[in-house]
Amino acid sequence: MERLAYDIVIVGGGAAGLRAAIAAAETSRSLRIAIVSKVYPMRSHTVSAEGGTAAVLRDYDSFDGHGFDTVKGSDFLADQDAVEFFVRRAPPEVIQMEHWGCPWSRDPDGRIAVRAFGGMTVKRTVFAADKVGFHMLHTLFQTSLKYENIERLDEWFVTQILAEGGKAVGVAALELRSGTLHAIAAKAVVIATGGAGRVYEFTTNGAIKTGDGMALALRAAAPLKDMEFLQFHPTCLPGTGILITEAARGEGGYLINNKGERFLKKYVPEKMELGPRDILSRSILQEIREGRGFQGPYGQYVGLDLRHLGEDVINKKLPMVRELAEEYAGVDPVHEPIPVRPGQHYIMGGVHTDVRGSTGVPGLFAAGEAACVSINGANRLGSNSLSECLVFGGEAGRSAAAYAISQPAVGSNPISGLVKAEEARIFDGLLKREGGENLAEVRSDMQHTMEENVGIYRNGDSLEKALAHVRELRRRYERVGVRDKDPFFNTELTTTLELDFMLDLAEAIANAALLRRESRGAHSRTDYPKRDDANFLHHSMAFRTATGLRFDKLPVKITKWQPAARVY
Ligand SMILES: Cc1cc2nc3c(=O)[nH]c(=O)nc-3n(C[C@H](O)[C@H](O)[C@H](O)COP(=O)(O)OP(=O)(O)OC[C@H]3O[C@@H](n4cnc5c(N)ncnc54)[C@H](O)[C@@H]3O)c2cc1C
Repeated sequence: MERLAYDIVIVGGGAAGLRAAIAAAETSRSLRIAIVSKVYPMRSHTVSAEGGTAAVLRDYDSFDGHGFDTVKGSDFLADQDAVEFFVRRAPPEVIQMEHWGCPWSRDPDGRIAVRAFGGMTVKRTVFAADKVGFHMLHTLFQTSLKYENIERLDEWFVTQILAEGGKAVGVAALELRSGTLHAIAAKAVVIATGGAGRVYEFTTNGAIKTGDGMALALRAAAPLKDMEFLQFHPTCLPGTGILITEAARGEGGYLINNKGERFLKKYVPEKMELGPRDILSRSILQEIREGRGFQGPYGQYVGLDLRHLGEDVINKKLPMVRELAEEYAGVDPVHEPIPVRPGQHYIMGGVHTDVRGSTGVPGLFAAGEAACVSINGANRLGSNSLSECLVFGGEAGRSAAAYAISQPAVGSNPISGLVKAEEARIFDGLLKREGGENLAEVRSDMQHTMEENVGIYRNGDSLEKALAHVRELRRRYERVGVRDKDPFFNTELTTTLELDFMLDLAEAIANAALLRRESRGAHSRTDYPKRDDANFLHHSMAFRTATGLRFDKLPVKITKWQPAARVY
C-alpha cells in the first residue's frame, strides 16, 4: 500500500468536482489538489446532460422570479436562503463558463440564447444545442488542465473516507489498473460523486451512478437529507431509459395519448407540457392506467410529438433528440411521435450541506447531485442542477481551500493505520469470499423492489415491503462472492462495492419515504394524498448508528415565500 498526500482530495470529476477543483486552485496556487474519479472525468454523467442550465440573464427576468419558481417547484421544501444565494450566483457562473470557452447557443443578435423549461415562468435556460453537459464538462475539464496544482487520479475508486478524531483526513482508493489500495491523506475531502439512479430498474442514469459518495459520507458520520425525494423524468425511451430532454417540450413539443389528445389539458391546463416533472410523470401514468397509452414491446407509453416543429428546428435545436429517437427507438421525430414513459432521473436528497458545502463533519464537504443544500426540496426544476453544480461546486472548492489552509500540514503517517482495516475488508473479506449469492441477482432484485414499491406512487404497505426486502437483500449481500480474483481492472469487485453502497441508500430512501406520511412534490403517497405542512414541513435527516439508521427532522428555512397551494 502506497501513501499519497494532498491538501484537498475531490472525489468526482463531473461538473461539481471540476468546478470545485478550479475554485480551490484559484484560491491558492500553493494548495495541492487531487481529483479522484472512478472514470475518466469526461465520462462522468454530466456529459449526458442535454437540455440546459438555468440563470437570470435577461431584462424581463429577475432573481425573485427564478427564486419563486424554484421554491414553488420544490413544493416549498427548498431552503429559501439557499435558493436566494443560488439564483444570484448562477448568472456570473454561466458568464464565467462563456469566458472559459463554453460554446453557448446564440440568438441572431449575438446574445446567449435562452429556452423555456418546465416550471420556469419565463425563458431562462441557457444551452449549447442539446449537448449542454458535453460542452460544459469539456469547458471545465480543459480549464482544470491549466492549473499545475490540480493533479488527477483517473480510474481510481474511492472505497472509504478516512476519519480520525471526528475529522475527515483523506480517503482510501483502489487504483483500478493495478488493483492496489492506496491511502490518500488530505486536509479536506470534497464529495462530488453525483446521483444514485442505479438503485432503480428504469433510469436515465449511467451505469456509474451508484451513489457511492452518499454512502461514503453516511459511513463517515455525515447525515443524508431528504432521501425520499426521487425525481422521475416524464420522457424516457421505453426499454433503455434513455432521456429525451425537456428541451423537446421547451421548444414546443406535445405529449399525446392513444387518441391523439394533448391530455395534459386535464392535469396542468395552464402550463401543459411545461408543467413540473413530478406532475407530468403522474399524469402520464394516470393516462396509461386509464387505458389511453400505446402498447409497445416494453410496455405502455405515450407519444412525444415534435412533427409540427419541422425538420429545420429539430435539426438545429434538438439534433441529439432526433439521433437518439432514430437509433434507440427506430422513430424519426420529423415524421412520427417518439414513444416515452417516465423513469428515475435525479435524486433531490443527498449529503446534507450548508450553502458553503460544509457537511458538519470537519474537513468533509459535498456538492453537486451527491449533496443536498437544499435548493431542490421535494422536486427539482429541470436545468437547475447544472447551475447548482457550478454555484455550489465553486463554494465547496473555496470552503475546502480555506479549511485546508487553516489546518496544520498533513502529519507523517496517521492514516496508513486507518487504511489497514479497509485493506482487510476488501482483499481478505470481499475478494476471498466464495459465498453462494449472485451479485447480479441481488442487484436486480433491489432495483425491481425499489421500482415497484418506492416509485412514482408509494404507500405505507409498499414501503414496508420494500424496506423489509432491502434489509433481507443486505443479508444476502453478505454472501455475494467475487469470482474474479484478478487484481487488474476487476470490475466485478467494484460492482460489488457499488452494490454495497446502493443497498445503504435503498434502505435510507425507503425508510425516509415510509416516515413521510404526506404527499409533496415527487413523493406521492396514495394513502396520504395531501401535503401536510402542519406535520411535515421539514427536511428528513438520516444518520447511521451502530444499530441502524436513525431519523431526525430539520426545519425548512423560509425567507419570503410562504407555503401556498401548488397549482399550475
Ligand atoms: C441523461 C441526463 C440528462 C440531464 N440533463 C440535465 C440538464 O439538461 N440540465 C440540468 O440542469 N441537469 C441535467 N441532468 C442532471 C445533471 O446532469 C446532473 O445532476 C449533474 O451533471 C451531476 O453532476 P455531478 O458533478 O454532481 O456528478 P457526475 O457528473 O455524475 O459525476 C460524478 C463523478 O464522481 C465520480 N465517482 C463516483 N463514485 C466514485 C467513487 N467511488 N470513487 C471515485 N470517483 C467516483 C465519477 O467518476 C464522476 O466523475 C441530467 C441528468 C441526466 C442523467
